[in-house]
Amino acid sequence: MQHEPIRSIVIVGGGTAGWIAASALSKFLPKSIRITLVESEAIGTVGVGEATIPQIRRLNASLGLDEDAFIRATQASFKLGIEFVNWGQIGDHYLHTFGDPGINLANLHFHHYWLRARAEGSTASLWDFSLHHKVAYANKFGRLDRVGNSSMTGLAYAFHFDAGLYAAFLRRVAEAAGVTRVEGKIERVILDSEAGLIGSVALDRGEVIEGDLFIDCSGFRGMLIGEALGVGYRDWSKWLPCNRALAVACERADPLLPYTRATARDAGWQWRIPLQHRTGNGHVFCDSFIAEDDAHRTLVENLDGAMLGEPRPLRFTTGCREKFWYKNCISLGLASGFLEPLESTSIHLIQSNISRLIELFPTRAFEPAAIAEYNRRVGHEFELIRDFLILHYHQTSRGDSEFWRYCANMEIPDSLAAKMELFRGNGLLHKDAEDLFRESSWVQVMVGQGLQPAGYHAMADRLSTEQLAGFLKDVRSLIDRAEASLPGHAEFIEAHCRSDRQ
Ligand code: FAD
Repeated sequence: MQHEPIRSIVIVGGGTAGWIAASALSKFLPKSIRITLVESEAIGTVGVGEATIPQIRRLNASLGLDEDAFIRATQASFKLGIEFVNWGQIGDHYLHTFGDPGINLANLHFHHYWLRARAEGSTASLWDFSLHHKVAYANKFGRLDRVGNSSMTGLAYAFHFDAGLYAAFLRRVAEAAGVTRVEGKIERVILDSEAGLIGSVALDRGEVIEGDLFIDCSGFRGMLIGEALGVGYRDWSKWLPCNRALAVACERADPLLPYTRATARDAGWQWRIPLQHRTGNGHVFCDSFIAEDDAHRTLVENLDGAMLGEPRPLRFTTGCREKFWYKNCISLGLASGFLEPLESTSIHLIQSNISRLIELFPTRAFEPAAIAEYNRRVGHEFELIRDFLILHYHQTSRGDSEFWRYCANMEIPDSLAAKMELFRGNGLLHKDAEDLFRESSWVQVMVGQGLQPAGYHAMADRLSTEQLAGFLKDVRSLIDRAEASLPGHAEFIEAHCRSDRQ
């Protein structure tokens, strides 16, 4: 017997998660499914979340958004990676770029050729062979798919944007596609069947909104998944101890950098996110290692423009839900978990989970096998990202504060220990189809944090010494030529996508 189809979806919350969900579901599901989004202006949104990773371009393209129009509407700038300052040790810096360093040759990752050159006395850094690095530090940008007619891929990029403006932009898209927005504060979640499914939500003014499927985008509190359905939370703060943030914008400082900066501080780190009209800043820290007053002072003393308002405090626990989909409720965004913002992964998790939901879309029977598969995949992706984040903290030579001594000495998940051990030997890399971070990301962060392999893959020895030198020289000259052909980052924005709202 065929099961009854879903007739209505209620999305609770109108932050980035709610409006991404509304725009994607209204785009891809049949028009016969009624979609309602409830949000409360009085409660507001978390309002941070300004740095993204290249996957967001896929989301925007799938929603049919014009990239330049989106950039103008959200005061966005381009992002080629994240610069990590003082992480491996004080005085260090490296760029985790969105591109592959060098060119992979004969199916062997470039870093093996670089490691061989190092073993033979070269002092060149891995980033001397990175197009993204060269372009980012020249403050340039361009839409470059490929470097000339070589096999070097061009510039992979993402954006820095104003999260509030992005949600507003998506709201217009979703409403135009038929989503109904209801303004109001939900007071109660009503479970109305023997199976304990959510039947409706009741607003404080008495209105009741019924639905078949509920999407919990209510932020950290997880009003449906946690409070109403009692799904627990996996706390990962022993590995990712930061639990507080202070966020503040300041006046724009020139030049407009095409990358995020993450500077390690005594008990956490500080972000710097350049937008067209201002710079976003925040200090992420652990309150067991620093007092809020000191964290506040650290943030304010390290801004490069006048503050626009007072720093806003945020509290969180790094981790995720025990189950992301339970009964007829799917949690997205902060309601589903939070991996601290070091690698700008939260908005990506919203979009990847929406894709999974669409792929595994249920009927009113809420097929347990689909729910189990969804939970398995989402949980696995959370764990993979978690490991990547822990790497940044654990692989450090810093011992100058209690926080960094804790991070350097803490026990880490076996899964991460195995990845580091594999690399430490001959620079080998694990592979997992669900891992958001590709091999080149792991290489850059492991090397950038000071994890140097003892050897390299035997295949790198297939080149003679002269061939290796010629190959490395060719890579560098390709990069130099590509960089020379690009305009400045601010110049590119001015020509293509400058926002009118300054
Ligand atoms: P929220 O923005 O909190 O929205 C919750 C919504 O639910 C609101 O509309 C609210 O009104 C509504 N709501 C709640 N309760 C009720 C109720 N009772 N009745 C009606 N409505 C209700 N992500 C990135 O990708 N990149 C970053 O650089 C980044 N930086 C971050 C820095 C910090 C310090 C933090 C804390 C997060 C960061 N994030 C980042 C994560 C990002 O902010 C969130 O993933 C994203 O904003 C989604 O939030 P949300 O929509 O889940 O929740």
